[in-house]
Amino acid sequence: MPYKRTVYDQSIYQEPAPIRDHDNPFQSMIERFDVAAEILELNPGFYEYLITPVHVHITSIPVKMDDGRIRVYEGLRVIHNEVLGPSKGGIRYAPDVSLDEVKALAAWMTWKCAVVNVPFGGAKGGVVCNPRDMSPGELERLTRRYTANLFNVFGPDKDIPAPDMNTNEQIMAWILDTYSMHARRTENAVVTGKPVMLGGSLGRTEATGRGVMTVTLGAMDRLGLRPSECRVAVQGFGNVGSIAAKLLGEQGCKIVAVSDVTGGYYNENGFDVSTLIDYVKANNGTLDGYQDAEAITNDELLTSDVEILIPAAKEDQITRDIAPDVQAKIIAEGANGPTTPLADDILNEKGVLVIPDILANAGGVTVSYFEWVQDRQGYFWSIERVNRRLDRIMRSAFENVYATSEKYDVSMRIGAYVMAIDKVASALRIRGIYS
Ligand code: NAD
Repeated sequence: MPYKRTVYDQSIYQEPAPIRDHDNPFQSMIERFDVAAEILELNPGFYEYLITPVHVHITSIPVKMDDGRIRVYEGLRVIHNEVLGPSKGGIRYAPDVSLDEVKALAAWMTWKCAVVNVPFGGAKGGVVCNPRDMSPGELERLTRRYTANLFNVFGPDKDIPAPDMNTNEQIMAWILDTYSMHARRTENAVVTGKPVMLGGSLGRTEATGRGVMTVTLGAMDRLGLRPSECRVAVQGFGNVGSIAAKLLGEQGCKIVAVSDVTGGYYNENGFDVSTLIDYVKANNGTLDGYQDAEAITNDELLTSDVEILIPAAKEDQITRDIAPDVQAKIIAEGANGPTTPLADDILNEKGVLVIPDILANAGGVTVSYFEWVQDRQGYFWSIERVNRRLDRIMRSAFENVYATSEKYDVSMRIGAYVMAIDKVASALRIRGIYS
């Protein structure tokens, strides 16, 4: 047998790779951080502390494949910051996940938790693999070994994973079980986004999309737009995109364009989103072959004639090349990092109201916090209570970020960073530096 490293088939990503406006996602985070740090006149030592991850774990994950071969995967976990509490963040399985991406995502989690005022720090994990090419058994063995390798990192009081791209409730259940086997007790608060039967929270699956809906309604109020006047385009029809589309549709908006990894779909009369969701469920998780629509490209979706654009797929989608042609009045960032810093400048100049990722998609971590609280109390809330508290937190975070952006005369993105960095820096000042 030849000795050869696995080269993953990237063809599942059918769109050409986006033109990068910057070297990597971590730099993209730093560019925004720098602007906010300057406004806050952040002490240089604190600046250094807050851009540096506190722990970076890289671990090799040997997996016995179904055909008897052994493959070694790379697992990552970055703890960016723990000043406000135990670190929190999802785990992403993807062939192109990189350390820089995970570092950026971990930092974004720190700022996101601070924006919605939940007592967590930020973390993120990733495994370089192509889950579409793996059997359920192979995925289970990969997940369990990743968890075992990071047993000393994870913990309800230390670092609490959750789902992200290509990971789901089942994977969280395997993490819970593996961790519990090693800990010799069932520890359901070690992950969030797990099945309700194992201590998951009602409403967690819909929480990110629901939060996107709440902040979008807040922005519509600010611009004096009624839902019935708004057409919406959604990039990415997974957990976040499909739920945001469904809930905004229920509010009276018309969802005219959706896309996923298989391409874009346009219907000027508006989609019945529940039908689309059923189609995706029955069609191996994608919109491939959906008939009742006109085929459009990814770029056409991002620049379509709509009032609201929701990028809910992946980072670096709205670049400096796309931004001049964006027609939407509001962009609600369901995904993490979908807009590059150069595109941000163009959108600001055009007067597009961008609800930044660290606010717009914070509904997920908010209900993850509710889940962790419920697990620790052993007392579980009704869906009404979860949604009511989520709506309240998202609405008030929206108003606070909006007010901060007005106060400093900056975009909502910089307003969110100012709010978050100020909060973490103030907590750090009070805790002090232990050396
Ligand atoms: P998901 O895997 O459920 O869905 C991702 C969707 O994006 C899929 O429909 C996929 O086909 C599509 N996609 C991938 N590449 C694409 C491309 N190039 N063009 C168009 N569509 C493409 O993932 P998700 O959980 O919905 O997460 C989406 C984004 O939201 C990610 O950036 C994630 O980090 C972020 N996010 C998710 C949550 C959560 O709770 N799930 C919370 C906060 C942020």
